[in-house]
Amino acid sequence: TEACLAAIDAADALNAFVHKTPEIALQRAEAADARIRAGDAPSMCGLPVGIKDLFCTRGVPSQAASRILEGFRPEYESTVSQNLKDSGAVMLGKLNMDEFAMGSSNETSCYGNAVNPWRRGNDDTALTPGGSSGGSATAVAADLCLAATGTDTGGSIRQPAAFTGITGIKPTYGRCSRWGIVAFASSLDQAGPMTKSVRDAAIMLEAMCSHDPKDSTSTEIPVPDFEAMLTGDIRGKKIGIPKEYRMDGMPDEIEALWRSGAEMLKAAGAEIVDISLPHTKYALPAYYVIAPAEASSNLARYDGVRYGHRAKLAQGDGITEMYEKTRAEGFGDEVQRRVMVGTYVLSAGFYDAYYNRARKVRTLIKRDFEEVFAQGVDAILTPATPSSAFGLGEMAEADPVQMYLNDVFTVTVNLAGLPGIAVPAGLDRQGLPLGLQLIGRPWDEGDLLNTAFALE
Ligand code: GLN
Repeated sequence: TEACLAAIDAADALNAFVHKTPEIALQRAEAADARIRAGDAPSMCGLPVGIKDLFCTRGVPSQAASRILEGFRPEYESTVSQNLKDSGAVMLGKLNMDEFAMGSSNETSCYGNAVNPWRRGNDDTALTPGGSSGGSATAVAADLCLAATGTDTGGSIRQPAAFTGITGIKPTYGRCSRWGIVAFASSLDQAGPMTKSVRDAAIMLEAMCSHDPKDSTSTEIPVPDFEAMLTGDIRGKKIGIPKEYRMDGMPDEIEALWRSGAEMLKAAGAEIVDISLPHTKYALPAYYVIAPAEASSNLARYDGVRYGHRAKLAQGDGITEMYEKTRAEGFGDEVQRRVMVGTYVLSAGFYDAYYNRARKVRTLIKRDFEEVFAQGVDAILTPATPSSAFGLGEMAEADPVQMYLNDVFTVTVNLAGLPGIAVPAGLDRQGLPLGLQLIGRPWDEGDLLNTAFALE
């Protein structure tokens, strides 16, 4: 813990931690020492971790990287961070992210972006660690902590993991309680671990999961010993390669990496089969209707009364001006864009054309996966991202849709509620990490982790 705290202080330039909690860390580390001495050490006893700023942590600023939550110190702890605490993990502080987890580059954060510790060859251009869990990815990749929590609504664990050469798993929807996690799109949001290895991910995921009566979508299903399932034996497993993920203009390096991943799995005894997920091309538009729709509803609670920031009012301002000014000052551009898009697609005149249509598409996407799994496919292999980490500022200047295209391989998993894992798979010509994604059957994280273990 002390070594991590020192590393965090020395790495301020990476802007990974937005609130440091050294007193809490040292206190928990001491408690962990005592438990170890007493021979009663739970699975994460004494392991220093970072917590994404989206998780409410009792008495510690929890702002979702938004100005609107300035000064908010929750009086409660999210179930996931409580589970980690109960398993002995030591919280080092809160990690940077895109505002309300909306973004793919960490550039929408009110704290400014975290910086990827990787560089292109000798080029000094600062790169994005990805997003929204960019601080988590940076902190793990730069050895500021052993592991971190992330959340994933459309790829926010897997894309930053791929951009920084680490492992990240989004479990099945309902595996982790969402209670105490600031809501973005409630039907898509899931928490998950971001770690140095598949084994670490297995250990940490088990510690994070639980059935929680405080979250009605958290499912009552036993949590297996994921680590014990890492045998590396994947003989006879059927791995599907979906042809629809072979996108036009995808760099040939990504193609090559994908092929070599499939070969590795084949060499380990898996059977590789071509599959089709025909509705894939509609996933991104459906996601960018559903996620903003849910966000516009979830973010209605930031009204200047219940939480955080309230704008200074002029003489004669009423409650409407108070809402308007507070929300205009408190929300960044991307969040405002999402609230507007979401409100539009939910409005009476457009609900059927956009929101309802997107929900139908979502069902079709889910069905595509169900059919493939019914044919005996155990896991699906795809690239995690369409490129390696891009330069900070590069995408933000383009139109927002360019940024949204980054999520093309990851959003289907959230729409279908499936588990997905990104594992580092090598470097591109510029020397930057690339990741592969494996998608599993619902509740089969153990099997999925084991397949990822064979790829590692
Ligand atoms: N990049 C996606 C978005 O901006 C996903 C974000 C996430 O998973 N939280 O919505």
